[in-house]
Parts: sequence; structure tokens; C-alpha cells
Amino acid sequence: MTDILPSSPAASVASTTRRYRFATEVVTVDNSDDPHNAASVPIYQTATFKQKGATATGEYDYSRSGNPTRTHVENHLAKIMSAERALVVTSGMGALDVITRLVKTGEEIIAGDDLYGGTNRLLSFLAKSQNVKTHHIDTTKSDSILPYLSDKTRLVLLESPTNPLIKISDIPTISKYVHDRCPNALVVVDNTMMSPYLQRPLELGADISYHSGTKYLSGHHDLMAGVIGAKTASVGDELYYVINATGCGLSPFDSWLLLRGVKTLAVRMDKQQASCIRIADYLEAQGFKVHFPGLRSHPQYDLHASMASGPGAVLSFETGDTGISERIVEGTKLWSISVSFGCVNSLISMPCRMSHASIPAHIRAERSLPEDLIRLCVGIEDADDLLEDLEQALNIAGALPTPSK
Ligand SMILES: *Cc1c(COP(=O)(O)O)cnc(C)c1O
Repeated sequence: MTDILPSSPAASVASTTRRYRFATEVVTVDNSDDPHNAASVPIYQTATFKQKGATATGEYDYSRSGNPTRTHVENHLAKIMSAERALVVTSGMGALDVITRLVKTGEEIIAGDDLYGGTNRLLSFLAKSQNVKTHHIDTTKSDSILPYLSDKTRLVLLESPTNPLIKISDIPTISKYVHDRCPNALVVVDNTMMSPYLQRPLELGADISYHSGTKYLSGHHDLMAGVIGAKTASVGDELYYVINATGCGLSPFDSWLLLRGVKTLAVRMDKQQASCIRIADYLEAQGFKVHFPGLRSHPQYDLHASMASGPGAVLSFETGDTGISERIVEGTKLWSISVSFGCVNSLISMPCRMSHASIPAHIRAERSLPEDLIRLCVGIEDADDLLEDLEQALNIAGALPTPSK
């Protein structure tokens, strides 16, 4: 049937349809147009759609261009991201690839200096292959962007908090600087660390917000996805054009998994965040230098609180010694040694050896990324178990002054 669902090329549900608080909206998926009243959106596992006649094309014809399961997850995500249109692709890096294709040779990108490793790799690739220069600046100081804004600026790429150093960027102030001076530039925020539950960059002045859907949105580390939210329909249309042209739209089954996972985002995040706050307090009390925007000691505590409704569930801390850090990471039993975050299970990692190893050592040093840094990504396990396991690992590693208990 061609008249049942809007096709992917149609604009997603406008943000004005949000009527309830986030935790209600995120679990309420509009599936009222289902011909059989299915309670869960079905998986339209089909590559092609039949036409009624030789010239009568329907809403859908080919799943690269649009698929009903993908449209449903896109509409749902648009609602919770306060986006005019949302689009889903095969990974978070795929999302950034789609966005950076809006930049032409000779135009410029301004980005932070504590970026996700894969983001650095893509930006270096663009510099080499397309002559698109990226200026890396300290986005914790909003004014540091001013000298780089010019008529060549096309994208301003922010992360807040950054990962793994948990630095905060002032999204409203930077957006205003960019929009006042560079009408052609788009402010893009990688909001993966916060999820739309805690922070919605489009409400703070950004033009595009994107996520690795592999993390909190899906929540179970069982799929890879990227999500892009556009503030205006015209930017959404440009991004859709790239997705259709390059063929990176999310498959029907992964779209379904993403929609299934996102419904529990609020309960997962509440639990993960509450445990992370306890663990941050514990580590700080032991004398470690802890990076977490939920601690009063965080230099940008107030700024973060003005933009987000919580500190999230990722923290990093320094031990002062890479050997000790290695022994802590290897001494935990409950925390899996793994890259990534946002999963229901807790993870521990050393960014310089793992997720950020693709950044050359001299650049890591330049950006003051400590080699001994440990990152904790807190899951939904019992918080007492997580704390006890961490404490025994700290003891084994000799990281605590005197073994407690
Ligand atoms: C994981 C991640 C990405 C990349 O997403 P993939 O789904 O792994 O491609 C981008 N940005 C941040 C902050 C991430 O954590």
C-alpha cells in the first residue's frame, strides 16, 4: 500500500509533536498507521517494493532510498532529539561522513582538540584527500574560535563533554558566534556521550546533532548505527540526498533493533548515571584526579549543568602511573576491558592504548591526554558490586595507600 506511511524522503515528525516528558515520549512510538495494528513496528525485510503500474510509483520503491522500518525509527528519533528531521545510517562514523560531504574543497572545518579518535582519522583523511582543512581549537574557551571564523568556514564540530577528558564546550555561545559571523556555516554537535535524554544540542543553538547509535541509543552493544538530527528541513534534505546517493542508510533489521533499544534509554541512563555518580565520589575520596561533570570539582560544572540535565555515565581518572593503570584495568572481573560505552554492561579501558591509539603519541601529548588515564563506562549492574570489584582491583594494583578492610 502506498498511502500507509510517509516515505523516508518525507520530512520526519516535527518537534512540536512532543507532548509528554522525555521518559514517556521515548517509550511511546507512533505506530498508529499500521494496517494490522501491530504493537511493535514490524521489520520490513525487503529490498524492493512493487509498483501499482509502470508509471505509478509508491512511497517506497527501493530500500536504499527508503524503508518503512527505517522511517519509523527516524520519526521517533526526530521527536526525541527535537529535530525537524532525523536520519539513520550504518555507524556513527558513517553519520559524520554524511555530514562532512556538505563541505567542498577549499572550505574549512573548525573542531575541538579532544575529539573521538575516529573523528580525528576522518578529518585527517579529508585534509589529505579533499584539501579540506580542519583547525583544532580548545573549545572549552569559546573565544578561541573567533580568529578562525571566516567565509571559508563550513562546519564547526563540537563534542561536549569530550571523551575521554570530559571537557565542556559552551554550545549556545559558540553557536551564536558562528551564526553571527558565518551565515554559511553549520554548528554540528557529536552528542553521543550525553544521549538526547540528557542533552539536546538542537535546543541549544546547533544546526546538526549526531550520535553513534552504537552507544546509549541502542544500549546493548548488539548493533552499529549512526543517527543525524537536523534542525531545519532543508539541511535534512541535503543530508538525505547524500545518504541515498552513497547507500549508507540503516538496514531494516538494525533499524528495528535501534527502535527496540531506544525505548529503554531513560531507565538505563538513570541507573547508569546514579551508579557513576557514586563511583566518581568514591574515586575522588581516594585522592584520584577524576574527570566527571557531576563533580563540584569539575572546572565547568556550572556550564555543563546549564546545558544538560545530568552528568552521564562515563568518567575518567588518573592514577599517576601507567603500570598501576594497567594492573587496575586487568584486575577487574566485572568490568570488561573494552572500547566503546553506552552498553548495559560496565566497561573499563585505557584510552591511549585502545580507543584513542590511532591518535599519534606526540599529538596525544600536545593535547595533554595522560597515558595513565583510565576510562570507566558504567552499566546497569548493582552499584555495590561494581564498587567492590573496582576496589579490589585498586588494591591489587597497589593504587590505594593502605588496603582498605
Ligand atoms: C563511538 C563514537 C563515534 C563513532 O561511532 P561508531 O558507531 O563507532 O562509528 C563517534 N563519536 C563518539 C563520541 C563515539 O563515542
